[in-house]
Amino acid sequence: MYKKPKKRLGQNFLIDKNILQKISSASNITSPDIIVEIGPGNGELTSFLVAFPEKIYAIEKDKDLIQELKNKFSGCRNLEIINQDILKVNLKEIFDRHAKKIKIIGNIPYNISSPIIEFVIKNREFIDIALFTVQKEFAQRLTALSGSKLYGSLSCFLQYYASAVVVFQISRSCFRPAPKVDSSFIRVDFKKELPLNQQAEEKFFELTRSSFNQRRKTLRNSLSKVISQDLLEEFFKITKLDRNIRPEKMTIENYLSLTRLVMSKKY
Ligand code: SAH
Repeated sequence: MYKKPKKRLGQNFLIDKNILQKISSASNITSPDIIVEIGPGNGELTSFLVAFPEKIYAIEKDKDLIQELKNKFSGCRNLEIINQDILKVNLKEIFDRHAKKIKIIGNIPYNISSPIIEFVIKNREFIDIALFTVQKEFAQRLTALSGSKLYGSLSCFLQYYASAVVVFQISRSCFRPAPKVDSSFIRVDFKKELPLNQQAEEKFFELTRSSFNQRRKTLRNSLSKVISQDLLEEFFKITKLDRNIRPEKMTIENYLSLTRLVMSKKY
């Protein structure tokens, strides 16, 4: 039975079979894989994925879609359909059950893209790879480098933990209802080693967030309440960066250096 898509749940269903096939191939799923699919919706992408992995958990928040999904996939013994909010799923439990890292996949609800990115980063030790369809601009923000207009604290946050690449673009016309913007299919690989310890990490995020809060000011002005001017002057002297540099011109490496300098003065 046809159900009206729910906007508040970000329901834009992918209907283009070529794109679904492309996502499935690019996901490179093989038989030992454990998959978590975010928001199966009507199960279109699920149909393309289900043939391959050892196990697929399809997590759908909308309970009105669950019965139809269960009917559609009644013969699939490797698929478990779960009526839950993805942000409340215990990935560690799934990881422990299979003693294997998870591939997390989905055409994700756009209104919770940032919380989903935070969720996968928090759970990265249980995740092998994340493969998401997101809004094009969100993908650009995740992957942006210094100097780009979309480079900001989200870019620094993600790229601190992971590298994200756009695999291909998806036109808005491939969805029903069609959203107002195009999408990108991205893959996120987590770094094996992180550049800072946990305490310094928090400082790094504080510095990047404060800097980009007022991205049109100079770095010096944006950070005037967060670190001392003396320290900033020292930073400019060491790095030979322009004293009037703007936040978006600072590379992640530059922010890391600044963080290390701040932390070195703490004790
Ligand atoms: N994968 C499908 C549907 C994508 S639309 C397709 O490609 O066609 C996004 C889906 O995520 C919808 O089915 C929506 O109900 C579901 N969803 C929204 N918020 C969710 C949440 N917090 N947890 C799990 N699923 C959610």
